[in-house]
Amino acid sequence: AAKEQGKNRWARYADDMDVRANEHARLGSELRQALKENQFFLLYQPVVALPGGGVSGVEALIRWRHPERGLVSPAEFIPISERNGMITEIGAWALREACSQMVAWQREYGPTAPGKMSVNVSARQLHESAFVTTVADVLRETGLDPADLLLEITETAVFDGGAALETVRAIHALGVSIALDDFGTGHSSLSLLRTCPVDVLKVDKSFIDGVTGTAEQSAIATAMAQIAQVMRLNVVAEGVETEAQAERLHQLGYPLAQGFHFARPLPPQDVENLLIIQVDNRGRPELTARAS
Ligand code: C2E
Ligand code: MG
Ligand code: MG
Ligand code: MG
Repeated sequence: AAKEQGKNRWARYADDMDVRANEHARLGSELRQALKENQFFLLYQPVVALPGGGVSGVEALIRWRHPERGLVSPAEFIPISERNGMITEIGAWALREACSQMVAWQREYGPTAPGKMSVNVSARQLHESAFVTTVADVLRETGLDPADLLLEITETAVFDGGAALETVRAIHALGVSIALDDFGTGHSSLSLLRTCPVDVLKVDKSFIDGVTGTAEQSAIATAMAQIAQVMRLNVVAEGVETEAQAERLHQLGYPLAQGFHFARPLPPQDVENLLIIQVDNRGRPELTARAS
């Protein structure tokens, strides 16, 4: 009976896997349609200066409003789009949308506009040499100054040296800044800093979670702030959820932070409201907005 039960459990497991595989296949084929029918949109999460909380930049984060499923997380559909190649077009769409939003904010708010627009780029995009042309085209078409664009890549995308690293170098040569996202969770973090042009480290939430804990729990976040300092890199603490963490990160020398404590990823209108508050308070905004 135990054997029988084991078998059933395995059969159920295999069925679950089939269901998930089918679901992924279906989502995959819907991605093209989604692009055509404007089902993607971007939210923008502020990156703020410590300790005051002024908006220093924003990170564009994609969302998919699926006609039947509702909101689908990028954690679900970006990996699928990487496997079926749709990331090339989706990524180009996100880049163009984010850059034109940034130019619109600069026209409307001048010096109060966010200083930098961050856009996430996946490994597969970097492995296509045409991506450099896409970036150059988008900058030209939107008129965005390359210095106002920050592309977020992961260590894993470039650690093996090859074509992806060449792409990053070519993009950097355009004047675009490069951030290493989820820093510390990928491969060969430190040696990469010698070969890859990097301007910003984004220290992963998993290291930030411990900053108010013991010396051991906060050791890596502490070390990363020091590495950034000696290497003259900018550094952002990701996933800051409490005031105590924000205070501690400021003490550790983090100039910038991002997280639900300051603001969630917001629709453009909510970012604009923050910019307006910022002007009213002469650069000392209370970043308490919570949305979506
Ligand atoms: P990421 O680039 O590391 O983005 C940070 C993620 O952490 C976002 O999730 C954000 O909503 C979430 N987050 C921010 N602050 C906090 C916090 O205080 N607590 C917690 N628990 N989470 C926080 P999101 O928007 O679901 O995006 C997930 C990932 O999907 C991103 O991770 C990025 O790797 C990818 N992604 C998003 N948009 C794009 C895109 O346009 N292109 C590509 N290639 N990837 C994207
Ligand atoms: Mg990111
Ligand atoms: Mg990140
Ligand atoms: Mg992360």
